[in-house]
Amino acid sequence: SVSTAMVSERATASVATSQSQRGSVSVNSLTKMFGPVKAVDDVSLSIEPGEFVALLGPSGSGKSTLLMMIAGFEVSSSGDIMLDGVRINDVPSYRRGFGMVFQSYALFPHMTIAENIAYPLRRRGLSGGDVEREVTKALKLVALDGYGTRLPSQLSGGQQQRVALARALVFRPPLLLMDEPLGALDRKLRQQLQMEIKLIHKEVGSTIIFVTHDQEEALSMADRVAVLERGRLQQCGTPRELYEQPATAFVADFIGEMN
Ligand code: ADP
Ligand code: MG
Repeated sequence: SVSTAMVSERATASVATSQSQRGSVSVNSLTKMFGPVKAVDDVSLSIEPGEFVALLGPSGSGKSTLLMMIAGFEVSSSGDIMLDGVRINDVPSYRRGFGMVFQSYALFPHMTIAENIAYPLRRRGLSGGDVEREVTKALKLVALDGYGTRLPSQLSGGQQQRVALARALVFRPPLLLMDEPLGALDRKLRQQLQMEIKLIHKEVGSTIIFVTHDQEEALSMADRVAVLERGRLQQCGTPRELYEQPATAFVADFIGEMN
């Protein structure tokens, strides 16, 4: 029922304060077919709580499809998706308790910045001073103190993407999913936000899965990088491991393409 759903969402929000043990994600032999196309091909990957993992690969390699299956926006064809040790293939997206940031900001244009950030809290049943306090904290986290009363159209692209980040983090999800979040920004702004996201990750401690086709971005930001090619996981390792011991010719070439 609706009320049961609300209670359980509220419970999710309140346990989020003791999230340090939460946010482990693993996929096991995960496959997604679109007709004859294997968008994701037998991928297995384990991510520890608090880890920052980049999904890296060229366009069409299956990064978004893999992320969308973890989010529950795409249904897998076969394989398992586990969150904190529980198989979630059949758990609806809104029950999986993650925050998400896409390339396009997707803010509500008619709502102020503060209302945009408050939205996920209100959906979880918070109100009044609790919302205000959390929104103020979230604005501070993304260095936008004082911008709460503005409308999205009054902010730059980079600022709007920071709002999207604040909105994704405001309910302290143990897991944050990001699909090319900086893809629409120019190089300088992108580098600035890369740094900010790393700092925010240190501060909030959420697990982050960050999709990018940009080798430099992945290697400079992530604890580990999972390299995909045509739906197949080529290698998952630290930036150093990818440089020094590329597992396949594809990884060697793709990482070598940098600069
Ligand atoms: P990436 O995010 O790495 O660019 P995608 O996950 O979007 O890659 O796509 C992987 C493959 O799956 C591509 O061949 C793409 O054309 C195909 N694909 C993705 N989404 C769909 C869809 N909704 N219908 C059909 N094919 C799709
Ligand atoms: Mg994509």
